[in-house]
Amino acid sequence: MKQRAEIGVFGGSGFYSLFKKAEEVSIRTTYGVPSSKVTVARVSGRMLAFIPRHGTRHQFPPHSVPYMANVSAFAALGVTRVIAPTAVGSLRPEVGVGDFVFCDQFVNFTSGRKDSFYDGPVTTHVSTADPYCPEMRKIGLEAAQKMGLKSRRTGTVVVIQGPRFSTRSESRFFRSQGWDVVNMTQYPEVVLAREKEMCYLNVSVVTDYDVGLEGDPRVVPVSHEAVVKAFNRNIGKLKELIAEVARTLPKERGCECGKALEHARLEA
Ligand SMILES: [Zn+2]
Repeated sequence: MKQRAEIGVFGGSGFYSLFKKAEEVSIRTTYGVPSSKVTVARVSGRMLAFIPRHGTRHQFPPHSVPYMANVSAFAALGVTRVIAPTAVGSLRPEVGVGDFVFCDQFVNFTSGRKDSFYDGPVTTHVSTADPYCPEMRKIGLEAAQKMGLKSRRTGTVVVIQGPRFSTRSESRFFRSQGWDVVNMTQYPEVVLAREKEMCYLNVSVVTDYDVGLEGDPRVVPVSHEAVVKAFNRNIGKLKELIAEVARTLPKERGCECGKALEHARLEA
């Protein structure tokens, strides 16, 4: 199939459209229908595709997002690089609300989510030692610095099942492990992209301090409404960042993400 888009963007909570004017594409995949129609448009000279991961009316809670269909839809359009903004809670006092974190590791605390395209008979084990594309992280960070955004070059996100937020004890445990931020949607999206040999860049926007940060006066039990409002305040910056990343990404990939399946199978 002809490549129709090179860069795919998954919008997070409150981020339901990316383009002023775009072509709408309806896609049905082997794994069902994605969260919404895919919009495709040219940005900074590159073809971008956009899917709001929670749907245009936020009808898919984190544990019900059709992650397989969403990643498949991008693959069908020829997407090789994904930019994935997410709202996160901070587990550390020094990670502040409004900070942009370019996560380099995740810890999966979700359960029951379908997280592989490969159910056999060809057994496939991709490496997720470094699940986020190093080249895109470098470019993302440079773009954020150029824009004067308070940003962090690394971060470990613990992905919880949701839709409920963590208890104080859970949050305290996550913090005690040295993890930085907490979220509900990074998994399995990032590993499904890896299985499709796509580069994947997470841009985490800190929307609140998680409840495990006890004794800190900034901590109040978070609400979904507060998360969406805080994320919304940063959507303009996110769109600008996406355009800058699209403008500066080298045409050829200089990373190993495109070879994820090369040694993932035992060839007979
Ligand atoms: Zn890559």
